[in-house]
Amino acid sequence: SVVTRFAPSPTGYLHVGGARTALYSWLYAKRNNGKFILRIEDTDLERSTPEAVQAILDGMEWLGMKGDGEIFYQTKRFELYKEFVQQLVDEDKAYRCYCSKERLDALRAEQESNGQRTEYDGKCSHGAQAPSADAPYVVRFKNPKEGSVKWTDAIRGDMEISNSEMDDMIILRTDGSPTYNFCVVIDDWQMGMTHVVRGEDHLINTAKQINIFDAFGATVPTYAHCSMILGDDGKKLSKRHGAVGVMQYRDDGYLPQALINYLVRLGWSHGDQEIFTLDELFNLFDIKDINKSASAFNTEKLNWMNQQYMKDLPAEEVASHLVWHFENQGIDTTNGPKLASIVEIQAERVKTLKEMAEISTYFYQDFEQLDEKAAKKHLRPVAKDALVLVQQKLEAITEWTGDNIQAAINLTAEELDVGMGKVGMPLRVAATGSGNSPSLDVTLVLLDKNKVISRISVALE
Ligand code: GLU
Repeated sequence: SVVTRFAPSPTGYLHVGGARTALYSWLYAKRNNGKFILRIEDTDLERSTPEAVQAILDGMEWLGMKGDGEIFYQTKRFELYKEFVQQLVDEDKAYRCYCSKERLDALRAEQESNGQRTEYDGKCSHGAQAPSADAPYVVRFKNPKEGSVKWTDAIRGDMEISNSEMDDMIILRTDGSPTYNFCVVIDDWQMGMTHVVRGEDHLINTAKQINIFDAFGATVPTYAHCSMILGDDGKKLSKRHGAVGVMQYRDDGYLPQALINYLVRLGWSHGDQEIFTLDELFNLFDIKDINKSASAFNTEKLNWMNQQYMKDLPAEEVASHLVWHFENQGIDTTNGPKLASIVEIQAERVKTLKEMAEISTYFYQDFEQLDEKAAKKHLRPVAKDALVLVQQKLEAITEWTGDNIQAAINLTAEELDVGMGKVGMPLRVAATGSGNSPSLDVTLVLLDKNKVISRISVALE
């Protein structure tokens, strides 16, 4: 059965590109009732940090992608890798190399000056003698010298990379630690990986890794190399383009469901359908439908998608994400309308949850001052009569409903012989501090009577 994995190197945030390959692997496993393994590739001790591990786990959790079974850490598996290194040495498929740094530097300089590819020349591959009993050494893999590595990539079709492009790579360092390409093969093999989805920047690694699989007589997984994600300037997506860590998208007010949907469509399609529930993706997603060409990240489209999700998901669910934004802005939402009601009335009006919280603070907090422009236009000096009268009528309401509020506004306008806007707008500015809010009856119902009455008094001061 299908086994896939996400295997990040913990050297930074979970970025958009990584999240997308994780997503494809996860969906493919789900689609096939398979297993999705999370494996932390932390063999690069200098560049890996516990903070980065945590950032990746946070990002995965926020997006709702859970690995099946334990999380593997390569640093905990060094003994295993070393046993397999030894097996290759015993079978004469790998060898100890004692070449000094000086020799390798000189070799490289010579190759460079001749315009040749810089590569190890294989000096120690024919049974080198240790210069001394405790001489340091690395172990190198005997890469085939002839022919080429071929595989059928699930996205890119038939691939072929000549062995002449590969040298005898180091699989065990002087300090006894195994290297990246070797660990990946052992893990993908031992974990029974059937499909490996990763970025096209790994194509040459794939060729090297297939040679190691072959050396062990192990079954090579199906590879799927995704194309790049580009920024809106056509260059490879990077920090320069702003938010590339997925948690930044949470901070910026995106729903994880929307980001998932956006990322899956960024490089995969099913007809011209844009919005997919997770269940639909679990049924429809296939690696072979991933696009071969690069895709460009488009914030406007993400915004559109986010708004669709804010409108279409159950309001309670959106509210469970919205609360974080109020808290992040220092606003206590325990006294005031239910957050789900805010979602219902504001989702049309904003693109992100962050904005939604920003434009809704007046439901939970008295504002310090009225919006200057709105107050000038609608409130002073002409609207005093309207506010006094509408306040009286609102105060008299016993059942605080939208209909009764609307009736009070209508009656005030009639009595003063003015248009409804001449009552509604001053009232809106007084109650919300701004000239821009959802429909007045709904807004005032949610604000509750006491707050509205007292805010009118403040505006009249
Ligand atoms: N650890 C590698 C990376 O973060 C991924 C390798 C793989 O997926 O095989 O680039």
